[in-house]
Amino acid sequence: MGEVISPVDGAGIGVVPGCSVEDVDAAVSRAAAAFETWRHVAPGDRGRLLRRFAAQVDAHLEELALLEVRNAGHTIGNARWEAGNVRDVLDYYAGAPERLTGHQIPVPGGLDVTFHEPLGVVGVIVPWNFPMPIAGWGFAPALAAGNTVVLKPAELTPLTALRLADLARDAGLPDGVFTVLPGRGSVVGERFVTHPAVRKICFTGSTEVGTRIMAGCAAQVKRVTLELGGKSANIVFADADLEKAAATAPYAVFDNAGQDCCARSRILVQRRVYDRFLELLEPAVRAFRVENPARESAEMGPLISAAHRDRVAGYVDGADVAFTGSCPDGPGFWYAPTVLLAGSPADRHWREEVFGPVVSVLPFDDEADAIRLANDTEYGLSGSIWTRDVGRAVRVARAVESGNLSVNSHSSVRYWTPFGGMKRSGLGRELGPDALHAFTDVKNVFIGTEE
Ligand code: NAP
Ligand code: MG
Repeated sequence: MGEVISPVDGAGIGVVPGCSVEDVDAAVSRAAAAFETWRHVAPGDRGRLLRRFAAQVDAHLEELALLEVRNAGHTIGNARWEAGNVRDVLDYYAGAPERLTGHQIPVPGGLDVTFHEPLGVVGVIVPWNFPMPIAGWGFAPALAAGNTVVLKPAELTPLTALRLADLARDAGLPDGVFTVLPGRGSVVGERFVTHPAVRKICFTGSTEVGTRIMAGCAAQVKRVTLELGGKSANIVFADADLEKAAATAPYAVFDNAGQDCCARSRILVQRRVYDRFLELLEPAVRAFRVENPARESAEMGPLISAAHRDRVAGYVDGADVAFTGSCPDGPGFWYAPTVLLAGSPADRHWREEVFGPVVSVLPFDDEADAIRLANDTEYGLSGSIWTRDVGRAVRVARAVESGNLSVNSHSSVRYWTPFGGMKRSGLGRELGPDALHAFTDVKNVFIGTEE
């Protein structure tokens, strides 16, 4: 095992041997020992080391981006953004150690203060769809809060995480503070969950695996953050800027070939403008540039693997295809952007996360109908609302059960705002000003002052 394949042409691009349970145990022991030093590094010095790590990432941004183009098939434009996001998240949380303040609470007979204590060794488990950013959202705040980190990249995409570990060492992070352990989920990932010295799991991936991880963590009351699947709605009201809504809808679902937990893969269109919207959507989908992701003009690359392409195609078989875009022939795991018409909300492609460049469209009648249909899912990660009516925008944003919504925009992720899901899309929040609280426990200390 351990051969890494490029989805762009199916070629082998390296061999990364997987770690064994013994390897994990040894690494966790080193991380636990390193924690005793790292937690006591002065806040300003810890911040300085994270800033140096960010500078290393910045200096190697193009190298990291090209590695991701090859390993994950991401477009070069996206891959540069992803490496830059790791740098920015490190810089953002480099300021956090000096700002991790507690409370001073008025009490009779003494002084009462709270501390945000680091947890110890944190296990970060990363999926293949955004190998760099998702790793950074876990390790940067965890390290800033004074924890040490062991990180498991996805088996399909270990290369950038391994390079980031080199860069951390070159930046001067002490041994054992940040360790990348490639290997199988069922070996390395499960050992993070069962190892008593791993005090928290920060998991991103499927709802199925996340559910098992939460159950595993329960045995030790281990802290857990889960970022899971999604089936987000893009709700287009008749009073919206239809041209803009239609022109941007493909980017909101086909970016990263739809392998995005925030993909707006259900488009809800008010019935009065349904035909007009589809008329506007068609040329935007046909023009979507699916090509070699190393080209500067590429808007979408291949899917991650042949098996995943088969899975995506399984959702389109027998469905009502409105129109499709195009994709290259030849080697590589290509799939053309596809627009499906949902016959009803019971359709499988309307209900399940496809995680590919496939979007389903369904008409709705009024605001109440739109909210009901948007919420008729077990997921609640993201979503968009298109309307020129401010009151409606606010009402619908408050009513949709989802962690991250945008109005007249498809933005989901900014590192300085909180990100995470409601319902079965996850538990806890990453990023934003409060992320360190997910990597610390509050300690309350009362100091008696009476003579
Ligand atoms: P996955 O199968 O759940 O895998 C995610 C990670 O968990 C991988 O590193 C995997 O290792 C590991 N893993 C698998 N089984 C495990 C186990 N029993 N114990 C511990 N770790 C285990 O998900 P995926 O197929 O990589 O990614 C696609 C899914 O992730 C989609 O459903 C998507 O929505 C979701 N996702 C959510 C977010 C979010 O922020 N909410 C972001 C990205 C992706 P292997 O590589 O060895 O399988
Ligand atoms: Mg999997």
